[in-house]
Amino acid sequence: MSYEFSNFGRHLGSGSGIGDLMDDLGHALASGGPDLKMLGGGQPARIPEMNAVWRRRLEELMEETGGLERSLTSYDPPRGNPAFLEAIATLFRETFGWDLTSDNVAVTSGGQTAFYFLFNLLAGDMPDGSRRKILLPLVPEYIGYANQGVGGELFRAITPLIEKTGPHEFKYRVDFDNLEVTPDIAAICASRPTNPTGNVLTDEEIARLSAIAKQHDIPLIIDNAYGAPFPGIIFSEVTPHWEPHMVLTLSLSKIGLPGTRTGIVIGPPEIIRALGSMSAIAGLSNPNIGQQIALPLIKSGEILKLSRDVVRPFYQEKCRLARQAAVEAFGDDIEWFMHVSEGALFLWFWFPGLPITSQELYERLKKREVLIIPGHHFFFGHDDENWQHRHECIRVSYAMDEAVVRDGLKIIAEEVRRAGL
Ligand code: PLP
Repeated sequence: MSYEFSNFGRHLGSGSGIGDLMDDLGHALASGGPDLKMLGGGQPARIPEMNAVWRRRLEELMEETGGLERSLTSYDPPRGNPAFLEAIATLFRETFGWDLTSDNVAVTSGGQTAFYFLFNLLAGDMPDGSRRKILLPLVPEYIGYANQGVGGELFRAITPLIEKTGPHEFKYRVDFDNLEVTPDIAAICASRPTNPTGNVLTDEEIARLSAIAKQHDIPLIIDNAYGAPFPGIIFSEVTPHWEPHMVLTLSLSKIGLPGTRTGIVIGPPEIIRALGSMSAIAGLSNPNIGQQIALPLIKSGEILKLSRDVVRPFYQEKCRLARQAAVEAFGDDIEWFMHVSEGALFLWFWFPGLPITSQELYERLKKREVLIIPGHHFFFGHDDENWQHRHECIRVSYAMDEAVVRDGLKIIAEEVRRAGL
């Protein structure tokens, strides 16, 4: 029997490059032996101090009158639990002085769903028959955005400037001279810190992007999945920024609760109301357990302290060790570069002149039980096939045990050399 799928079904239900890759990684992980080095996923580390907090909160919810009922046995309103929305607005108002009320806040089932809703709300086929796109001021950008458009390709990406900041280090910068906002652009979007590179757009870059978006009457969307004030996996001293035409997304995943699927969106009330409507239509309401676990931590400010004193130093140290291991593994005799690490969980490597593609490197590494993500997946929306850089990069997670990361990097360096770099 073969069923005919709608256009929507074909776009979302017929697989994708990233879906195939995740499947491939998953199978390699399932069939791999004890020596397998999983440096490919976006799984945050399990931090013992944070797991102790989740355990404590679950116990408190069990003991509290009505705690269990609020967490598990009721449907919240589609836009999120009212007390949680209020607590988020208050936290950001008091911490950063932003002029917010709970009308500026919505919860979604993870940050991923927030992007699915936001992109399709703003871009795609418009009532006047035109088609709108999301402008990515920098690529590489978060792989999870690709393929989210219900009506096909949604992105237009600008080639970044590459600034060499050290003998083996570089940083992508927004090329403002080539950033053109044409009438078909619906919004500008960037992750900060960026998955996959660990880049953090500077305050000046954010201010310029915000001014450009405002001038064109479109939203600037900033994906803060790793940023401040929580989870705080951000190592550079930059200031979180919000203005009434901005949409800021957050998540409880990277602080340690990916299983609760809790995404948070701060934005203009009109967009926030639309997200509530989309949540109702797609899923009635959102999971409430994450909101109930986090609520008192947000009200008391404990979440800020945990982010600053536990999560941030944990990843900063892992990042330092991974970078040191990379320097030892790759040495000085080949040309290799690592992006500056200003946040998130990844090292992003660039091997200029690599004689094989990053896809081939991925295949060879998989045979040696090292799983990474080949870089070309992160350049969606960028149509210059001749830009070789797209095939010269890989993403390596450093959230795993230090020894696994170190051994994996040694094997990556061996394979890069064997490829003839
Ligand atoms: N944004 C970025 C940059 C991410 O890396 C991720 C997950 O890895 C997400 C959003 C979505 O995360 P979640 O749906 O778990 O909130």
